[in-house]
Amino acid sequence: MKILFASSEAIPFAKTGGLADVSGALPKALARLGLEVTLILPKYRQVDEKRFPLKKSSLELKVPIAQRIESAEVYTVDMEPNFRVLLIRKDAYYDRDHLYGNPSGDYEDNAERFTFFARSVLEVAREWMPDIIHCHDWQAGLIPVYLKTLCRQDPHLAPAASIFTIHNIGYQGLFWHYDLPITNLGWEFFTPQFLEFYGKLSFLKGGIVFADAITTVSRKHLEEIQTPEFGGGLDGVLRDRRGDLYGILNGVDYEDWSPANDPFIKEKFDPARLSGKRPCKADLQKEFNLTVESNTPVIGIISRLAEQKGFDLITTVMDDLMKLNVQLVILGMGDEKYHLLLEGLSKKYPGKLGLKIAFNNTLAHKIEAGADMFLMPSRYEPCGLNQIYSLKYGTVPIVRAVGGLDDTIVDYNPTTLQGTGFKFKDYSPSCMLETIKLALQVYRERSTWERLMIRGMAADFSWDRSAKAYVNLYQDQMAKKRR
Ligand code: ADP
Repeated sequence: MKILFASSEAIPFAKTGGLADVSGALPKALARLGLEVTLILPKYRQVDEKRFPLKKSSLELKVPIAQRIESAEVYTVDMEPNFRVLLIRKDAYYDRDHLYGNPSGDYEDNAERFTFFARSVLEVAREWMPDIIHCHDWQAGLIPVYLKTLCRQDPHLAPAASIFTIHNIGYQGLFWHYDLPITNLGWEFFTPQFLEFYGKLSFLKGGIVFADAITTVSRKHLEEIQTPEFGGGLDGVLRDRRGDLYGILNGVDYEDWSPANDPFIKEKFDPARLSGKRPCKADLQKEFNLTVESNTPVIGIISRLAEQKGFDLITTVMDDLMKLNVQLVILGMGDEKYHLLLEGLSKKYPGKLGLKIAFNNTLAHKIEAGADMFLMPSRYEPCGLNQIYSLKYGTVPIVRAVGGLDDTIVDYNPTTLQGTGFKFKDYSPSCMLETIKLALQVYRERSTWERLMIRGMAADFSWDRSAKAYVNLYQDQMAKKRR
């Protein structure tokens, strides 16, 4: 089975969020199950060419875009047996400081940049003839559209089934309608039935309407996106396609995220050697200029600083939280608004609130290892990865019970002493604060807390199970195609 995996970011090449973790790890898991996988993404400036010697492929793409044909080079990296990566090189589009935009806003030519990406993927597909083209998020949303429209008659592409995975419905690839000619799609597709979304052109909607099957990254989120509260305006479109909609929970790659073999942390540890977490905690406290106290609980946050992630709750309760015997470390980058708010607060609480406005993988590992608890009060969370990493590091998650957070964390039950973390339902500052207080109280009961840590560390969210679910889906879609 040949799978072409189209994603706008993937570790270890380029990353802004969880999509990159999934796009790096799932192909590897699929390849290990015997599938032949090609992952394709743009060659951004962020790709570390020293670490990955790129081989120029003989493939010279001729990509139709607007009224022009543009060329693009393709570079290859062989990752492991059955798994290679192709990077589309077009410096005018991808050789920039960031992937999608500056802190002040998105790049203005994103419609063109990702139309070009979609069409490049199809040019590669024409050569390689995959059975499945698995497309991720709005940046790859036009691929299923082209397969059903402009490329419908192409004998090299017609046999391929398309799968579209929604990692974040909040990012919809919305552009003004004047961008439609860039796509070469006719105006007959600019209607609410197809690509129009309240007067705008939506790449995400294109993916949803035209893909053979649509998936999202947890069961709970599958239900949620079909409701007005979480559907981002697309709940009706998703309900129309409910027969082709699937929820497959993301896995995590324990080769990258496990305290037993993490090269970034002060001391390695596992359930049988929990004491290793102490030096990690001291190291974290030093790193974030916090008072080094082993008995003061540390809450960690690693996040895009975005509305979605619950920073309005966090900033609202900060004064109350800082009255408690607790320290908070925050690693994040994102909206300017939260940069300023958090910087102000960290000046107000030196030694107690540690903040780094940065994107830094080493620090992310140090937080997972050194913190006692991990806070994720998201407004919505399709899957969420950090709470799953936290479990493995014995860093007890405190989460809002939405989407994947609800599916992966079992609420602590004081009667049965079961559970792996702490959950709250209402999106309210007081609800979150009460839950944090409960966690801090349980933290004082050392043996109960250690059992809570150990239960979390034993939970298994490796890719095996989810990768098999994708294989089943691929097989079903291929069979449907042949019928
Ligand atoms: P999302 O994809 O919505 O951003 P996820 O929890 O699914 O959220 O994944 C976030 C990923 O990005 C995790 O691997 C997390 O460690 C990483 N990450 C987020 N912010 C930062 C940061 N500032 N520095 C380093 N890694 C980060």
